[in-house]
Amino acid sequence: MKSPSLDWLFLDAGNTLVHLDFVRVAEILRAETGFDGDPALMESAEPHARLHVDGARLDADGERKRWHAYFWTILSAAGWLDRALIPDALRTLFRVNQTFTLWSRPGRGAEETLRNLKNLGYRLAVISNSDGSVEGMLDRLGLKAHLEFVIDSKIVGIEKPDPRIFRMALQQSGADPARALYVGDMFHIDVLGARSVGMDAVLMDPADLHTERKCRRVREISELPAILTP
Ligand SMILES: [Mg+2]
Repeated sequence: MKSPSLDWLFLDAGNTLVHLDFVRVAEILRAETGFDGDPALMESAEPHARLHVDGARLDADGERKRWHAYFWTILSAAGWLDRALIPDALRTLFRVNQTFTLWSRPGRGAEETLRNLKNLGYRLAVISNSDGSVEGMLDRLGLKAHLEFVIDSKIVGIEKPDPRIFRMALQQSGADPARALYVGDMFHIDVLGARSVGMDAVLMDPADLHTERKCRRVREISELPAILTP
């Protein structure tokens, strides 16, 4: 059943619809740096890495510091010892593979969930902080077919949590913010960003690390339809 009070669902991409391919990350690092990290250990550290960078305190120096801290938490969990070499590891990852092609693993049930939501009558679009490649990736994974449009921060020149990127989506869709919902994995970027333009938001919280937050949470995208209806 569709919620009678909601028309539009705007979705984040990275860590909401698509996830890091840690097997690929481990392969690249093994080939390029000799580091032999277990992808399963990296994956289990990821929610903690996300929590660590989900704060306003890193915003002053933007994305670079956030990525370094994020990958340091992930790689050190798999045995990477030297924090000073993290920038080299990131350069390697980003050189061998474009940033977003590493986010090439669809969330469990992502395609079916989007299809169900669309069939229920919701209208769907993506708002992503990305590098210009997110639409192509969503297309390759068969997710774009369910979306009416994709806004990529690199292409529009504005990143979440700047309210202007959310307003852009409202304008493009004609959605009433009071009848729209945003779904993303970063509290300060996604939830507070969406709320700043009057939209409600749901936080993707796979490891239940945000129990203190005053917002609705799901552990994976397939749980979304059930929490939209009262
Ligand atoms: Mg995200």
